[in-house]
Amino acid sequence: MAPRRDPKNVQAWLIGSGVASLAAAVHLVKQAKVPADQVHILDVHHASGGAMEVSGNSKDGYIYHTGAQPYFQEECVTNLLTMVPDPGHPGKTLWEVIKEHEREQGVDFRFNVMVTDLKSYPSSDPTTISEIVLQENGHELLITVDPIDIVIVTLGSVASGMQTGSNLKSPPPPSLSPDSLEHGEWSLWQKLEKQSRKFGNPSNFSSRLSESLVETFTITLRDSDFMKYYTKLTGDKPGTGALLTVMESPWGLNISVPHQPVFATQPKNVHVIWGYALHPERKGKYVEKSMVSCSGKEIFCEILSHLGFPTDPLLSSSITIPCIMPLGTSMLLSRSHHDRPSVIPHETTNLGLIGQYVEIHGDAACSLEYSVRGAQMAVFNLMGLSHGPPKVGKNKFLEVLEELL
Ligand SMILES: Cc1cc2nc3c(=O)[nH]c(=O)nc-3n(C[C@H](O)[C@H](O)[C@H](O)COP(=O)(O)OP(=O)(O)OC[C@H]3O[C@@H](n4cnc5c(N)ncnc54)[C@H](O)[C@@H]3O)c2cc1C
Repeated sequence: MAPRRDPKNVQAWLIGSGVASLAAAVHLVKQAKVPADQVHILDVHHASGGAMEVSGNSKDGYIYHTGAQPYFQEECVTNLLTMVPDPGHPGKTLWEVIKEHEREQGVDFRFNVMVTDLKSYPSSDPTTISEIVLQENGHELLITVDPIDIVIVTLGSVASGMQTGSNLKSPPPPSLSPDSLEHGEWSLWQKLEKQSRKFGNPSNFSSRLSESLVETFTITLRDSDFMKYYTKLTGDKPGTGALLTVMESPWGLNISVPHQPVFATQPKNVHVIWGYALHPERKGKYVEKSMVSCSGKEIFCEILSHLGFPTDPLLSSSITIPCIMPLGTSMLLSRSHHDRPSVIPHETTNLGLIGQYVEIHGDAACSLEYSVRGAQMAVFNLMGLSHGPPKVGKNKFLEVLEELL
């Protein structure tokens, strides 16, 4: 672990503004006591939230691209939430509440900024970051990083190349090409990899689209009929059951019926559900088209037909918005030992790597908890704090299995 840094003298540069970086900022300010105006968050998008950004309204349909549901027993997320104001803030998502709270404290957010490179020394084995290279308004800019400063990078993004359709149109084909990867948010990790193998191997996760592509959908229901049929079929009230897997679906459909409301602006009579499919390139059972070429309405028609619910009234009182995510399950792809870098790469002094593609022993990616845990590990290590995040909890199923064996 690094020696304790004096928080008053540290400038903290956080690259990315998804949940990983937002969590790192909270822990830097609340626990490491870095003054908020010395925490800088840079993101290529116009707003924070990363893959968990949400949008829409009850008239045009809501959109959330990823499940965005905290799982049970997430100690690091729970710990984070104790440090921010009540998430029940009217009209805001939890991430907007965290961002607004950080902004009020004085954290420096800079959007529409692409970080393209990190300069480091010595070249034989990079240990210390000395400069951040970025593109802003078409200009290349440099930020000098002192050895006491810290840089925390969210590597890549599961949302890269995402395409959204509408109730009546399928999403355009995914926009991820080798060229866009070279210029988008994955390019920074690619440049780091060229400096040293200790920074991991991004192409293991970004170049296997036939294995990582998923399609998600958000369905906005203008009355409660679907919920009544769902409760009758499953015996579960919204928010109490697990994901509903449609076993006979060639698309590999899974439906999540969360506790309502999902959105703070959601009127009482409106319900929002979400789901995903692991094989959207296959033809449906009832709609004989690949899911990727279907409109939202066609996707909902396939779902209703599987469930045996009346199609016409439910289709005419709902809006389904599909979204293709070429890297949706990329964090779960098979990998070699060094493809994922460590949160604190070997022998580095002021760099932390976070997000879904770093190695956290014993923990499972594809969760908020993973990104938040990585952020806590980076902050505790770089700031030399006395204790880090709690140990990764053991999977209950594995515990039972171990007892039995
Ligand atoms: C289909 C699906 C369903 C999911 N469901 C759930 C769920 O129900 N519950 C759950 O806990 N988790 C879920 N997850 C996982 C969850 O989405 C992720 O844990 C979370 O979004 C990761 O956050 P992050 O901050 O690590 O990365 P991201 O959300 O990807 O944010 C990274 C941000 O950094 C920016 N960035 C990266 N590099 C640069 C750069 N060089 N310059 C500028 N900006 C940069 C990116 O543009 C992006 O905005 C799901 C994921 C998927 C794909």
